[in-house]
Amino acid sequence: MFMTHTLRTKAREELIDITRTVEEDVKSSGIKEGLCVVYVPHTTAAVTVNEHADPDVRQDILKQLKVLVPKDCDYSHLEGNSDAHIKSSLIGASQAIPVNEGRLVLGTWQGVFFCEFDGPRSRSFYVTLT
Ligand code: ZN
Repeated sequence: MFMTHTLRTKAREELIDITRTVEEDVKSSGIKEGLCVVYVPHTTAAVTVNEHADPDVRQDILKQLKVLVPKDCDYSHLEGNSDAHIKSSLIGASQAIPVNEGRLVLGTWQGVFFCEFDGPRSRSFYVTLT
């Protein structure tokens, strides 16, 4: 089962909680045991699994990625968004989450996040359930 979702990001960098959307896909698929792959078809965005209880964690992730990958550096790419491309590769374009008893196997504090590194833009992500 393959599902497409679109979203509109509001800032240059932000982590958007998409857990509920992915959980609804699992529910509507009827799959009881399997694998859920969330994939982002962008070169300046990513998807991660991390804490969704305390929103400060999201801010800290973005803050520290800025330290690791500064916006201005001796980059060759002329578009001026090399930092976003690098962050996208560091975090990754997909996450695989097990499905058991018809639900995503996430820890108590875990959520699924769409990571925007060069917004605001119209974006999409795909959910594949097998
Ligand atoms: Zn670029």
